[in-house]
Amino acid sequence: MSSAEKPSPPSRSVLVTGGNRGIGLAIARHLAAAGHRVTVTHRSGEAPEGLSGVLCDVTDAASVDAAFSAVEAAQGPVEVLVSNAGITDDTLLLRMSEESFTGVVDANLTGAYRVAKRAASGMLRKRWGRMIFISSVVGLSGGAGQVNYAASKSGLVGLARSVARELGSRNITANVIAPGFVDTDMTRGLPDDRRKAIVEQVPLRRYAEADEVAGAVAFLASDAAAYITGAVLPVDGGLGMGH
Ligand code: NDP
Repeated sequence: MSSAEKPSPPSRSVLVTGGNRGIGLAIARHLAAAGHRVTVTHRSGEAPEGLSGVLCDVTDAASVDAAFSAVEAAQGPVEVLVSNAGITDDTLLLRMSEESFTGVVDANLTGAYRVAKRAASGMLRKRWGRMIFISSVVGLSGGAGQVNYAASKSGLVGLARSVARELGSRNITANVIAPGFVDTDMTRGLPDDRRKAIVEQVPLRRYAEADEVAGAVAFLASDAAAYITGAVLPVDGGLGMGH
């Protein structure tokens, strides 16, 4: 078959949580450019230019349900879920309030559970689905000052691998991406000396661009990754090697 006759890859219905900025926005733009039907969630304001958006707070199950219903009506049931929304609230353990711990876990881990559960029914009906959870290198290595964040990101691995076991027979995969340090609002707030110290530990000696995380998501969403499930894919410049 000549390249002119090659069938184009299927256009999937994609939902990216927290897709109005940072890594989520890069993922959404990358998947839209690849021909998928992409909606991003945002908590306020307008959708990013050129993308469709739906209001959603992942800490609120009713808001998640309403967002999925809107996406289903606009572009069909979600076939590729990218659970990306996340927050940090760093401080050392002895100073960390219970609200800080549960708040971060609620957004990063319980939020992922909420969207995965809501996405699963449509994927089961379709006998096809891809769930991709954005974790962090810190979920595997731990991070001083990040007991809440690391616990939430580590929890995503158990969540994804359980989903992979439960739903694999229905052609639904669940994988985790563990980025290292990515140049976004989340890391731009770090003091310069901390940024410098981080870069010195990264074998590739730089932060990732958000689009480099998006490339890994696009791979896991593609037909080329059909036999990959329960995997944790690092996109960390080598920072987490050995975990
Ligand atoms: P940003 O802070 O730039 O963006 C976070 C996104 O999540 C925003 O769109 C934000 O929405 C959204 N969000 C936060 N809480 C909620 C909520 N309760 N409901 C819905 N949306 C919410 O972060 P990044 O782009 O850097 O991070 C994206 C993901 O990647 C996160 O899960 C993060 O933990 C992970 N990650 C980031 C790394 C980095 O170095 N930057 C490294 C490893 C992992 P809003 O605009 O409304 O606040």
